[in-house]
This record gives sequence, structure tokens and C-alpha cells, in this order.
Amino acid sequence: IREENKKLKGLPAITKDGVEIVLNANIGGITDLLSLNNSMADGVGLLRTEFLYMESKFFPTEQQQIELYERAYKKVEKLNGERELIIRTLDIGADKQLPYYEMPFEGNPFLGFRGIRFTLAHENIFRTQLRSILRVAKDRKIKVMFPMISNLEEIIQIKKILASVKKELDEEGLEYASYIQTGIMVEVPSTAFLIDKFSEYVDFFSLGTNDLTQYIMAADRLSADVAYLNDYFEPAVLRTINYIAEEAIRRKKKISICGEMANDPMAIAALMSFGIDRFSMMSSYIPMAKRTILRLNRGNLQRELKPKLLNCNNAKEVKEILKEYIEVIT
Ligand code: PEP
Ligand code: MG
Repeated sequence: IREENKKLKGLPAITKDGVEIVLNANIGGITDLLSLNNSMADGVGLLRTEFLYMESKFFPTEQQQIELYERAYKKVEKLNGERELIIRTLDIGADKQLPYYEMPFEGNPFLGFRGIRFTLAHENIFRTQLRSILRVAKDRKIKVMFPMISNLEEIIQIKKILASVKKELDEEGLEYASYIQTGIMVEVPSTAFLIDKFSEYVDFFSLGTNDLTQYIMAADRLSADVAYLNDYFEPAVLRTINYIAEEAIRRKKKISICGEMANDPMAIAALMSFGIDRFSMMSSYIPMAKRTILRLNRGNLQRELKPKLLNCNNAKEVKEILKEYIEVIT
């Protein structure tokens, strides 16, 4: 297997009909960062900055953040692909809590104060993070991404804050990236249906299928009792994803997926049939993804698989179709 992986590492992830697929890694902690160089990742599609906030004694300072982001970029630079680093701003609340900060009590935390809702309400915390990201992004392929966006007001407000932070850095005579690519997580259904509008404000979209699935199905991602509903192969989830992809592709916006769905080769085939060609996953899943992609023909997926998937009655049918498809081609 080691020999085979070595060979695989040298190959680009390209379909039989010549479509190149980007395979990025998700970074959710220091161990992920340390193992990045042994991986086959092209870059980092999701740096979950929460881990720095969770491991610190208090909200990390600008300098602490700069150190982490620089360290991450040094790792990314050594990779073999596009070498982008997408830093996601703090996404706490619900399943992610800080030991030094007590969140208000909520009956439905997943529908509550989390992600961008928290950082826009605590602008000082947000500004410190944006300062660090902008400073590290100078002359580097670093992009910034915002979690849990649910309406246009939020991105408008973010853009205002970004401009004001840049002005502040100018006044202090500090160097920073005057232009940084911005993107949003598409993980709330309201945002899924406004991709055309959001396209006016952002450079890229990243599908957060963990949250998107739980919100489409109204099934808490932490509940074992409703886990059977929390399935990204539910036809309603697939139709939503297909709609997002169509809208983004039509507007020539990059669209990738960074939820756990990308770990699953069957899901990769489904997503590729919708035109998605960028994936970000735990780096240990990248070899399997690559092996699958090398056997796929994207034209066939779009012509044959896509219409079948979009016409299924339930997740079971979707899985049967995908399983058969993968077996036939492998
Ligand atoms: C997601 O929701 O799919 C996602 C990638 O973000 P997180 O799992 O950190 O909420
Ligand atoms: Mg999420």
C-alpha cells in the first residue's frame, strides 16, 4: 500500500475524461497540521480556527493568531498542488464551546448564537481575527471564509468591518493584504437559495454539508434518535446541493465542499455529477478520494448519474444507484 500511495501521490486527481479535481485538507487541530506534509493535499480548504480559541486560556491575541496562520501557511507552501489556505473565522456556539466564555442559555443552540452571529455581535473579537488574517495574507495565497451566513446583511456588514480594519492597519503603518479573496460557508438553507445575490459579494462558496443536512432535514446533528434523518444522501439534500452548484457555476464562482460528505467516495461521485470539482476533507481520506476520481468519467456522471440521483424517492435508492455505479466502473 505504501508503494501504491507513493505512485498515487505523484499523480494529479484527474478523471478519465481529463477533468482535474482539487483535493484539499481540512485542518481541525495541531495534529492535522503536523500530518499535512505527508498527505496528498493540494492545499487547505478549511482551517477551523476554533481549535486555537479552544486551547487558549482566553481569546487568542493578534500575535498568537499570526503565529498559527503563518505556521499553517509554511506547511501549505510545501504541498504539491494549488497551495491555497482558506482560513475560516471563529465558528463557536452549539457543538463548539470555549472553556473561558459562557454562552447564553438557549433552548435550540443550533438555531441560536453561533458562527458569524456571535462574531458580528462581538466585533472586537472579530476585528482582532481579521487583523491577524489580513496581516498574514500579505503576498500569500490566503483566503478568508465566514461560517453560518444566513442573509445578505451579514456579508454587507462583514465587508464594512473588513474595510474599517484595513483603514486601521493603514493608520498604524502595518503591512497587510489590500486584496483578499472572501468566501462564505453555505450551510444554512436561506443562503442556499440566494447564491445569485451572494455572488455579488464573494469570490467563492464552500458547502458545509454537516450543518446544511441538519437544517434541511430539521434533524439535530448530535442526536442519535434522529440520526437516520441526518443523511446527506436524502434527495432533498442532493437537490439543494445541485441547485447551489448550478447557481455558483453559472456565475463562475468557485464552489467546493468541506463537510464530512467529502470523505465518502460515493458522495464524491454524486457531487461531481453536479459539477463540483473541489473537495476538502480529512487528509487521511484523500488517497481514497483520488483513487475513486481516477476511475470516474465526469461527462458520464453528468449525463447518466445526475438525472437518476435527482429523481430518487429516498436515501436508500440514492445509495443503491451510487453503489452500483461505483462497482461497475471499478
Ligand atoms: C459543516 O457544517 O459542514 C462544516 C464543515 O462546518 P462544521 O462541521 O465545523 O460546523
Ligand atoms: Mg458548520
